[in-house]
Amino acid sequence: MNFSDLGLSDEVLRAVGDAGYTTPTPIQAEAIPYVQMGRDILGCAQTGTGKTASFTLPMIDILSAGRAKARMPRSLILEPTRELAAQVADNFDVYGKYTRLNKCLIIGGSSMGDQIKLLDRGVDVLIATPGRLLDVFERGHLLMNDVKTLVIDEADRMLDMGFIPDVEKIVSLISPMRQTLFFSATMPPEIRRLADKFLMNPKEITVAPPSTPAKTVTQGLFVVPHSGSAAGHKEKRVALRALIAQEEVRNALIFCNRKRDVGVLCRSLQRHGYSAGQLHGDMAQPARMETLQKFKNNEISLLVCSDVAARGLDIQDLSHVFNFDVPTHAEDYVHRIGRTGRAGREGRAFTLAVPEEGKYINFIEKLIGLEIPRLDIHGLEATELSQGSGRRGRRGDRDRKGGRDGRRDRGDRGDRGDRGDRPRRDADAAPREDREDREPKDSREKPAREARERPAREKPARDKQESRRRDDRPRDRDRDRESDTPVVGMGDHVPAFLMRPVKREGGNDK
Ligand code: AMP
Repeated sequence: MNFSDLGLSDEVLRAVGDAGYTTPTPIQAEAIPYVQMGRDILGCAQTGTGKTASFTLPMIDILSAGRAKARMPRSLILEPTRELAAQVADNFDVYGKYTRLNKCLIIGGSSMGDQIKLLDRGVDVLIATPGRLLDVFERGHLLMNDVKTLVIDEADRMLDMGFIPDVEKIVSLISPMRQTLFFSATMPPEIRRLADKFLMNPKEITVAPPSTPAKTVTQGLFVVPHSGSAAGHKEKRVALRALIAQEEVRNALIFCNRKRDVGVLCRSLQRHGYSAGQLHGDMAQPARMETLQKFKNNEISLLVCSDVAARGLDIQDLSHVFNFDVPTHAEDYVHRIGRTGRAGREGRAFTLAVPEEGKYINFIEKLIGLEIPRLDIHGLEATELSQGSGRRGRRGDRDRKGGRDGRRDRGDRGDRGDRGDRPRRDADAAPREDREDREPKDSREKPAREARERPAREKPARDKQESRRRDDRPRDRDRDRESDTPVVGMGDHVPAFLMRPVKREGGNDK
């Protein structure tokens, strides 16, 4: 099949040709005809599969008939991070270059005034992160009545970042007479529930099993001999430099679990003469964009980053991904290494661990269903993951036990979480910084909503996030129940005055 078989307009086909694409990816071939028919889509697909074009290409054609009114966008695309939103906006520029669609990007960290001006002129495509979108809406600069196409992208990431209540609010503002395209890399039960709520008779499309790294990525693991954070990090910095020296690194993302380590590692690499930059959620948005652009233009060859900043980034032809820390959530490993080996190209992804990170390696290997091969780094001696923390003991023990069998014993203990068969999210996992990402420290405009919600969102601790999710659940359930079932009498609610003890005439309380 090629693109001309998909019934796209000449303008879109020309733009696709200019982009150098010859054949549609599987999700494009499957989804585009259904989007054109006006069907809802439930797409289980990761970034890197071409899913952005699977909705942008047909949307460009759908939107090319008609005109937008002031403050009334005709379509809305929700993205979990600013970088992803900006990337989708770039896609509209690339694929829509022969059409005259107006688009507007509504994300935190950049001037709300400019965004509002664009909205006032009327936009065909509005691409937004949920928090800023609600801010703009609550300030009265936006009406959702004309939104006929809604895209919810990276829904599982929205869940992880605690954005689902915002997404639900936004969806409730949009007419049910709409087409909804819903994408998620994974389909845990909470995401399924949302999909059932938001979509009508959707066409389900799954293009790659969730949590499977591309086959074109060569993986490796090196365990440094020192334990403990400081000593381990020092060893890892030595190992990283040695690894970069022995690999042909054209450009690499280097992931750290914590923002402060991003800065430390970046400065260390710069001191050793590497062309390195950093990207994390505490940086001002213009600085984030500028660093990213420099990396994409090959002005910087190593980009040290945090998960939130680098999630879903589409960097052409990335040769390497290094995990300076083992991600504490196994899915993040798949997302991180998925930045390389894209579009059928070869990529290399190497992880550095201290012995205590064994349990996280255990989760990852369980998720991806294979053992990450051990790496040799010239001049350095590797050690083993520590006994208590991982499935393996010393290398000799593993060999004697026949490798994977030892793991099976421990794997059967039931470390499964609330997401079906995905490895559980660990209670003592390092906090994600996603939520801090929502609050740019440099933000000159402190929108009312963001300011109001700051205390709840500022601290990214996972337990806070979990408790917020737990807090949300009963409310959500109540809301569902309220909307489905007629309330009889006072329902479950008994007013306080009815519960007050009544004095009997004899004077005894009853
Ligand atoms: P996405 O999954 O949307 O992040 O896309 C991943 C990458 O694949 C992007 O760099 C796209 O430009 C590229 N891409 C999308 N569709 C195609 C295609 N049909 N052929 C080749 N590359 C594509």
